[in-house]
Amino acid sequence: MINIKTYDEKNIFSKILRGEIPCKTVFENEFILAFEDINPQAPVHVLIIPKENYCSLQDFSLNASDKIILEMIRSIGKISEKLELENGYRIISNIGDDGGQEVPHFHIHILGKKKMTKILP
Ligand code: 5GP
Repeated sequence: MINIKTYDEKNIFSKILRGEIPCKTVFENEFILAFEDINPQAPVHVLIIPKENYCSLQDFSLNASDKIILEMIRSIGKISEKLELENGYRIISNIGDDGGQEVPHFHIHILGKKKMTKILP
């Protein structure tokens, strides 16, 4: 079972943030990192993560500062422009076991360049 209350520094995104494993960076600033998903589910599939440690959107929404919450939301618009997703895109954040979360560091998926249909497959 994924723990969404206690942060586990062994998770893969924590290793990416520490530079221990590589990623294909799309956008980075003081607060966030965005990189290509290793197993893309659409022609564009990017993950946005905060540089601070939060287990999930649940943890982030309750405990992050207003500043970092603003930076995460603003980054969605900036990154979608950079990726030229003017035709639209989908964002997803999976939370915990029932949400299907695999990596316990809060992340937002941006999926684009594909016509999305149903919310769930
Ligand atoms: P979740 O199911 O937790 O919402 O999504 C985790 C995502 O992380 C998946 O889409 C998966 O393909 C991606 N992922 C897992 N390991 C790695 C990795 O080592 N590098 C990158 N770039 N993406 C990864």
